[in-house]
Amino acid sequence: MSIPTAISNLNTNALDGFGKICKTALREYVEHYQDSEFFVVIDEAHHSPAYGCRNLLIGNSESKPGLRTLLPKSQFLGLTATPTHNDRAIRGWLWDIFKDKVIYEAEKATLIAQGILARPNYIEVPTGKKVEVDDKLFYSLTRQHKDLPESIIEILARDKDRNNLIVNAYVKNKEKYGKTIIFADRWFQCVYLKEKLLEKGIQADAIYSHIGADPGSETGSNQRDANKNQKILERFKTGKDEYGNDAPLDVLINVRMLTEGADVPSVRTVFLTRQTTSSILMTQMIGRALRGEKAGGGSEANIVLFFDEWERLIDWAVPDGGDTVDNKPSVKGYFPLEYISICLVEELARHIKNPDIPLPPFSAIFPVGWYQTDVVYANTDGQTDSMESFVEFVMAYEHNKDKFDDFIEFISNNKNLDDEWAREDLSESWCQSQIEPWAAQYFDLEADNFGNKLYADLARLVRHVAQTEEKPSYYSFADRWRYNLDNLAEAWTDLSFKTLKEELKKEFSSPGSLWKTFYKTFSRFETAASAAIMRILDKETGSPPPTTPPTTPPPQSTSFTPEQKAQIVQRDGYRCLCCGIDDRRVRLQVDHITPRMFGGPTVIENGQLLCQPCNSTKYVGTHEINFRQTQSPLEKSKDRIELQNLLSKPNNDNNPIRSLTRVINIFYHCRAVKAIDCDFTNRRSPHYYVWTIHLHKGNDPDWLLSCKNDLIAGIHQKLGCAYLQDIQICVSE
Ligand SMILES: [Zn+2]
Repeated sequence: MSIPTAISNLNTNALDGFGKICKTALREYVEHYQDSEFFVVIDEAHHSPAYGCRNLLIGNSESKPGLRTLLPKSQFLGLTATPTHNDRAIRGWLWDIFKDKVIYEAEKATLIAQGILARPNYIEVPTGKKVEVDDKLFYSLTRQHKDLPESIIEILARDKDRNNLIVNAYVKNKEKYGKTIIFADRWFQCVYLKEKLLEKGIQADAIYSHIGADPGSETGSNQRDANKNQKILERFKTGKDEYGNDAPLDVLINVRMLTEGADVPSVRTVFLTRQTTSSILMTQMIGRALRGEKAGGGSEANIVLFFDEWERLIDWAVPDGGDTVDNKPSVKGYFPLEYISICLVEELARHIKNPDIPLPPFSAIFPVGWYQTDVVYANTDGQTDSMESFVEFVMAYEHNKDKFDDFIEFISNNKNLDDEWAREDLSESWCQSQIEPWAAQYFDLEADNFGNKLYADLARLVRHVAQTEEKPSYYSFADRWRYNLDNLAEAWTDLSFKTLKEELKKEFSSPGSLWKTFYKTFSRFETAASAAIMRILDKETGSPPPTTPPTTPPPQSTSFTPEQKAQIVQRDGYRCLCCGIDDRRVRLQVDHITPRMFGGPTVIENGQLLCQPCNSTKYVGTHEINFRQTQSPLEKSKDRIELQNLLSKPNNDNNPIRSLTRVINIFYHCRAVKAIDCDFTNRRSPHYYVWTIHLHKGNDPDWLLSCKNDLIAGIHQKLGCAYLQDIQICVSE
């Protein structure tokens, strides 16, 4: 099982529809075998200090025991290829989990020197293919850490010129590359590459299992069974056909069939025919060629990486996370420059599209430095179920560096941080609801939400602090002054157009400078320089600070189909079933009543319409709450602490009636509130100082009456209604 699945299934506070704690199959299994000897093997063990995994293994309290407590006779064995990934982890949690510390270790450099691993030789091949990156794709690649969507993969796989280029890359270097594995994406791409290679006299074959969606004539003849694939793989390994005759294969093309398991030591080269954001996938593919001489391979392995021209800058996975045995520049020195470039190019693009938007001055678009964050994300969406850590950078500018420092100071005090933040599988909507009030408190949303990245940046910082229990390191951009176009432009204002252009060209291509890294093309650089010159010439008027368009929230990923959603929306009357908001401007979400984690099906009966604040408040604890029900399923009242917690959860809803309705409904595990008489805008109304909460029939009013003081205190402090004097509670008949 995957680690995220194990984490979410071992301990859960979630209650079923009757308010009883759910017991998952994993928990029953573990309890059944509690007296047996267990050997627990944890792959990618460098992730195990992360919150979810360490709680799975060693637990954090009596109420949430880990495997060590539940299985007292267990032994843990961790395996990792990057044991020094996180220093803090090495010092702290790792040794709490793996008490015997390192029992066996082999350095990669040593393994290469000993000939057990081959020395990787990275060869980059540009395909020249330009790929459009719209906002949705960009968002999913960069902020949600997803890999390329199927639609783009399909386009790349079908591109004939691109496929020919891949074929030619092999044909031209046949001697050097030798026995080669090509990782492709689609069966038809396999067939095409194979035919073209055969035409050029290369012995090639392909293994694949999936057949494309179109059931056309191609399907029948290309249907593959495991048996045929096995024969081809045998031939590739041994150089003999099924009758024992010599039939060597030079190239084996496959669709993800060779990423794990299959082992062909004599492979000298792998082709990665497209970029991926998944470093795990990349490592697995590269690993196919890394067997050294002593392990039946060669001394060198060629890793041929095909890359396309993406319209925007995306953090592709790089071999070994950028830190290869050849001591290539580590991620620290390299990536922030790309990030700076992303900001510059985006700002320029907006200016070019709409010249009325002034280009902001140097001080606002060249960061003074960056914070490095290191966050482990769980991807439990759809088919993949994995955990990966990402090093990401948060840019700090002259006008907001102090604000960032104050904010980091605030979140580093763990009194201010909900324990939930250390989880790897936080939902975006939950993060957003927590971040919003902080962003408003610590930042200026006009000036600091540069490139609409502020919320995502703050979430990174908080998750880093919560997971590592350390502040992120800050690196100042020491060479920043060299790229101050506003200063350089002082010397350019009197030049003629012709001399200016020459001057700019000289500057752009001056050796050792980073202009090319930042601006990518000369014309963008020229645009930025012209803007700097114009700013000097128009000094009297000055330029207003950059304004950014409001962020549109991304579509929520859920597996309800658009048709199902439409039916649920209509059934639930276009309003949030919990707080009742029915404003068309508010985005409503279709939620699973029984969470998917507990096998809740994606059917209309299991869907309910909720607004974002209600959904994210309910999310904590993954309770099963059916807001279509008006009578509480609970046998007895929840603890008053729960009510206090619910009241103190920050949310971005400024309507006290809705906020109170939400809290009470979640407290009762149903839509218990029928109405609240509260007239918070009218001092003369009888319902200004005294509110009346009407509960639906069958709900015990004593649950609220017994903690009325908590309720009133919460309304005073958290809902901003200090004038409230009393609350009455009545139940409808
Ligand atoms: Zn709501």
